[in-house]
Amino acid sequence: AKALGKARHEIFDFSMYSQAAQLLQLEMDLRRAVERQEFQVHYQPIVSLETYKIIGFEALVRWQHPQHGLVSPERFISLAEETGLIVPIGYWVLREACRQMRAWQLEFPAHPPLTISVNISSKQFCQPNLIEQIHQILQDTGLEASSLKLEITETVLMENYESATAMLLQLQEMNIQLHLDDFGIGYSSLSYLHRFPSSALKIDRSFVINIGANGKNLEIVQAIISLAHSLNIDVIAEGVETMDQLRQLQIKKCKHAQGYIFSQPLDSQSVDTLIASSLPF
Ligand code: C2E
Ligand code: CA
Ligand code: CA
Ligand code: CA
Repeated sequence: AKALGKARHEIFDFSMYSQAAQLLQLEMDLRRAVERQEFQVHYQPIVSLETYKIIGFEALVRWQHPQHGLVSPERFISLAEETGLIVPIGYWVLREACRQMRAWQLEFPAHPPLTISVNISSKQFCQPNLIEQIHQILQDTGLEASSLKLEITETVLMENYESATAMLLQLQEMNIQLHLDDFGIGYSSLSYLHRFPSSALKIDRSFVINIGANGKNLEIVQAIISLAHSLNIDVIAEGVETMDQLRQLQIKKCKHAQGYIFSQPLDSQSVDTLIASSLPF
């Protein structure tokens, strides 16, 4: 009986079982969340480093879980990708973010108008009807195409090489800007920059962390900014937390930044308060 128990234990690894069970539970919860629309969009300001004015916001999804409270995307985006649930989630985020931005533009007119940046995942980017959906959303919400920026990573381009090229041309025709997200952490960022013309790149937070005094990434960041400028591409620094980092970025002529030094991502009501209190912006 003892031998049998041991054998059984080897076949059936309980720690693995509970991990799998947790994942399955999460997947079930996520499906229900899509049906019941348990998601929220939070917004993080993107700030001009020349004027300190808010030029726009990045939309970041949150999951209001009935038991676990507000769940960060880091905990569910990859599962959403694997299960394909990212497609309906991403569609909802895109529509909600465009609707909200149009409302802010009407309430708080600015020149140029505030923009909204939305993350587009790989699965979403290969949907053949994405362009059509964007058209419809812009029409329904009244948001100008030029106010919408799509953030994609190089993985998106890598996984959809063929369709990505066609997609980029269509987006260009529609006057929608493409921003290359998490720039620098992939091994081929530079070659993608060359092959897929984008309007801006976002320097990944992992580089920005180390650009303070004696920071080992200062030269890399400097090189990325110079290269981008020579290709007529704007640079947005992600995850700026300290004055030291901010100053270095300004010295290197980085145009825009987002990060906790300015603000964490905020719910829409807090953004209302923020914009109203920083007028004229
Ligand atoms: P990301 O696109 O690189 O977004 C930036 C992340 O950095 C956000 O995390 C933001 O809250 C965080 N961040 C901004 N400034 C700072 C800072 O100064 N310090 C630190 N430590 N963090 C900062 P968040 O909201 O947890 O999102 C994580 C990732 O989840 C995003 O990374 C993005 O890849 C993904 N994600 C979020 N929303 C969506 C969405 O609607 N669709 C898709 N496909 N992915 C999303
Ligand atoms: Ca992003
Ligand atoms: Ca990013
Ligand atoms: Ca990132």
